[in-house]
Amino acid sequence: MLDKFREECGVFGIFGHPEASNLTYLGLYALQHRGQESAGIAASDGTSVRHHKAMGYVNEAFNSDALAKLPGSLAIGHVRYSTAGESLVANAHPIVVDSVHGQLAVCHNGNLVNAGELRDALVRTGAIFQTSSDTEVVVHLFARSREEGVETAVVDAISQVRGAFSFVMMTRDRVIGVRDPHGFRPLALGRLGDAWVVCSETCALDLIGATYVRDVEPGELVIISKAGLKSIKPFAPARQSQCIFEHVYFSRPDSYVFGESVNEVRTQLGRALAREASVEADVIVPIPDSGVCAAIGYAEASDIPMRMGLIRNHYVGRTFIEPQQSIRHFGVRVKLNPVRSILEGQRVVLVDDSIVRGTTSRKIVRMVRGAGAREVHMRISCPPTVSPCFYGVDTPRRSELIAATHTLEEIRKYLDADSVAYLSLDGLTDAVRGGKSKYCTSCYTGVYPVAFPRDEAAYLQLALKLNPEPAKAETSAPIADLAKQIVVG
Ligand code: SF4
Repeated sequence: MLDKFREECGVFGIFGHPEASNLTYLGLYALQHRGQESAGIAASDGTSVRHHKAMGYVNEAFNSDALAKLPGSLAIGHVRYSTAGESLVANAHPIVVDSVHGQLAVCHNGNLVNAGELRDALVRTGAIFQTSSDTEVVVHLFARSREEGVETAVVDAISQVRGAFSFVMMTRDRVIGVRDPHGFRPLALGRLGDAWVVCSETCALDLIGATYVRDVEPGELVIISKAGLKSIKPFAPARQSQCIFEHVYFSRPDSYVFGESVNEVRTQLGRALAREASVEADVIVPIPDSGVCAAIGYAEASDIPMRMGLIRNHYVGRTFIEPQQSIRHFGVRVKLNPVRSILEGQRVVLVDDSIVRGTTSRKIVRMVRGAGAREVHMRISCPPTVSPCFYGVDTPRRSELIAATHTLEEIRKYLDADSVAYLSLDGLTDAVRGGKSKYCTSCYTGVYPVAFPRDEAAYLQLALKLNPEPAKAETSAPIADLAKQIVVG
């Protein structure tokens, strides 16, 4: 695997279209980059909710027979990469339950930080859990709610969970989209003729020919039924903490996320990086695909030409068998190959969006040197990643994050680069509307907007990656800003 944070999940829902499950399949196809472990769809024909889920990519999990068994004009779907709970089909979404309030199907993108605590309380009162997914607590809370009616029971259940969530839910006759009050994860609203669509990213709207209307707002619940779209904001307002990593890496560059073009933000990050960390060089080379937008911005602002000096093999897939440790370096070679005619004798600026452990970056720098580059300068379009994420993103332990345990000079030496520079936190937050007041930047600062209870470590798979010390409270001092120190060897 390339050395990156792993995407979380993608959600999609549609109300009022005769081909709801087929369109959901296509929507999930567009969101495949957000999760590749499992895929699932639930559909309703107005009388009952049916569902199908399986491990694998969307096109492996579904065939035309499976889709034909999901009739109706309402559907929701999910692609999953497990951030909490094991990678099993039982944990795949949608989670579908039958309750006193009727059937409910739930798809979740995010991570609930109090799921373990709620689960323990529910188990003590007799609840039997079928999965290890944090999302299942929501369906139990819904089923046990004493509120009258589906909408109030959903609100009652969601009011009890904390953390990051963009939910798409479905009952027999309505689709519900919810975003947590902090707005960690994205959720867009669109229209396809008379049908309504909710989805993680607008690239899913583009694929099915739908039009982007607006984002579901932080703390907003949209209920779509035959009566139309109803919006309510039943939760106490909270400080906005949209995930800035969606712009840095996760989302597709052709999407609009949190109301802004990912491509434009990423290109702006490259421009800012060039201004903060310029270097005498002959050619800008992106590390594909993640570094391309930032490299375009860096080249534009530095007036140095950008060339595709590394070519990515797009057909590696998941079936590639890693060779034994002794010849493991083939792993990167299989994915990327240097273009000697572009690199030989040149002073090269390699641009990437992030460094996690540094293992892949080091192999790439060596590969570029091996192709004859005279100098290799590494430029990263975000600040040093020093802390794990607890809000729905799979990150290694703090001790495995190279920037958490090494100085910039040590990173340069490890990568075998002539210089290394990261974008500053200000450079990052200045590139998005609302900046620090609207975005979560915890993986760069170690300052967490939503406290993470220590005893959750016993439950959440993600939390098992914690170091012995508990997650810092919001008052913790941020790390020193390393970004403007350019270390030259
Ligand atoms: S910690 Fe990082 S990856 Fe997690 S939500 Fe915040 S910005 Fe996103």
